[in-house]
Amino acid sequence: MKEARVLYWFRTDLRLHDSPALQAALDLKPAVLYPIFTFDPHYVYHSKGSGNRWQFLLDCQNDLSASITKLNPKSKLFVLREAPQTLLPKIFKAWRITHLVFERDTDSYARDRDRVVSSLARDAGVETVTRYGRTLWDSDAVVAKHGGKPTMSITQLQAAGKKVGAIPRPIPAPTSLPDPGETPIDFEQELPDADPDLNAPVREGEFKPFKTGIAGPHGDFRPEVLEELGFPPATTPHRGGETIALKMLDDIIADEEYTAKFQKPKTSPAAFEPQSTTLLSPHHHFGSLSPRLFYWRVQDLISRFKGSASAPPESLTGQLLFRDMYFAAQAAIGSPFTQTYNNPYCRFIPWHLPSHVESGTETGANAISGQYHIDSPQAERWFQRWKAGLTGFPWIDALMRQLKHDGWIHHLGRHSVACFLTRGGCYVHWERGADVFEEWLLDHEPACNAGNWQWLSCTAFFSQYFRCYSPIAFGQKWDKEGLFVRRWVPELKDLDAKYIYEPWKAPRSALDKAGVRIEGDGGLGSGGSGIGKREEGTYPEPMIDFNERRKVCLDAMKTAYQVGINGDDERVKNGTWREL
Ligand code: FAD
Repeated sequence: MKEARVLYWFRTDLRLHDSPALQAALDLKPAVLYPIFTFDPHYVYHSKGSGNRWQFLLDCQNDLSASITKLNPKSKLFVLREAPQTLLPKIFKAWRITHLVFERDTDSYARDRDRVVSSLARDAGVETVTRYGRTLWDSDAVVAKHGGKPTMSITQLQAAGKKVGAIPRPIPAPTSLPDPGETPIDFEQELPDADPDLNAPVREGEFKPFKTGIAGPHGDFRPEVLEELGFPPATTPHRGGETIALKMLDDIIADEEYTAKFQKPKTSPAAFEPQSTTLLSPHHHFGSLSPRLFYWRVQDLISRFKGSASAPPESLTGQLLFRDMYFAAQAAIGSPFTQTYNNPYCRFIPWHLPSHVESGTETGANAISGQYHIDSPQAERWFQRWKAGLTGFPWIDALMRQLKHDGWIHHLGRHSVACFLTRGGCYVHWERGADVFEEWLLDHEPACNAGNWQWLSCTAFFSQYFRCYSPIAFGQKWDKEGLFVRRWVPELKDLDAKYIYEPWKAPRSALDKAGVRIEGDGGLGSGGSGIGKREEGTYPEPMIDFNERRKVCLDAMKTAYQVGINGDDERVKNGTWREL
């Protein structure tokens, strides 16, 4: 039998522990095994991303490469720079590959990419082997057991999961790895914009093509890579890598009471250093932590606590079920999942669209699609102030500033800012907010981001639009003294706690004492480009009257629910919804 020469393609599975795909590669008893990662232009050049997420990725690569080298000093993570659709066929030939192995990814772009790559592999006589490992259950199997439909609630996910079978126990990391073979790369490089599958425009001025290469002692992880990829330096304190993830998990599990009795609604969104939840989500995104390892370590502990432990959906294992629910929903719906347009499960709501967004224009992975469009320059200003953390509502501004700087905020913080931007204040389209989260989140996951935005905006998953987060009372409930606000909105750090959530109500004497004036719009002006140019010692006035806007939004939501049409309705698709 021909000896196996395996190309193991790491993507969002940057770990050695509990990797069914890596195990499948090793089961082939390969003569050589090449662990590779390719910077995919779809993500690097065509989608948004702050330096923070890319630094996290480099951290994960670096750590993984070091771990590979520990198991075999001749090996490391080979990082290549070209679209896999054009690069891999050349590698198959140059490295005489017999098998391509990778972990399955149900994200809609990833599915298309993998279909193309698998077909190219077939043409090259290379066998493709895949396994699932990103979720507790195989999302496609969940969908199949749910009658081909998306899972729109935890109960549906649990019922379908039960039919799929028990959540598999994690498998151990390998103790050795085969040698890699020679790695000639003297072939022509295709530049990303030459790829016919990648038709979104390259970010102007930021595209710096680089040669396909295999770099570094462990790969391609120098800090200057961020700059080469066109990203600003990272600001986040959160760092990536399997070693860190496993240590974080150990520390969490060591606090047995916390782990077994965790109840999400009782964790504070205002807690910082340390935060009140695990902060493992970026590790799940990059695969530096297996969700099944997390699940089983928590579950084993819970079983010892018997009746006093928490249960799904509030428990820690319940949080992982939400993740699986969104993955399976996306797996069933496909690419329309991340938008309203053409999405049969998304309620159509005629949001205000900021004025510069033209109908039908694609603006990114979360493009606002379709014909419907209420022109609103005011909504654009609200959106810009929300994004800049200059709404004049300290609770919202603190969260948005933490999000931009750290790349992570607590789940209920995400609830607050998402509700405020959409149905609970500004009535701006949820896809605009999801775009900002895509840009800034370390843990950005298309299925979880879109699904949660749909939930919060009451377009899918959740319909109690009358339950609205106050940008004042909700923060107050968790943090009377406003310590979180003081941390992220230093303009207000010396303000009396009585006014910290509503500084516009503070008397002159309190403001003078705190050395701050409440005035202006955060430097936004009418053009929208002057954000941040506000005067020293000032904090903006609130950009809306919340009580008034809550009422406007509630009335509008009520009407949208009465009309009751979804994103795949012909009237939405052909732009005649106004006639209703
Ligand atoms: P923990 O509470 O410690 O939960 C443990 C794990 O469960 C998390 O690491 C995460 O993997 C998973 N999880 C928890 N809550 C959810 C949830 N509601 N949906 C899906 N998975 C969950 N999560 C993402 O991973 N990526 C996203 O892009 C994302 N976008 C969001 C957008 C909005 C508007 C909202 C409201 C939530 C979003 N979430 C997203 C879900 C959730 O806020 C984060 O997963 C969670 O806050 C991460 O912090 P943690 O690791 O401390 O969570």
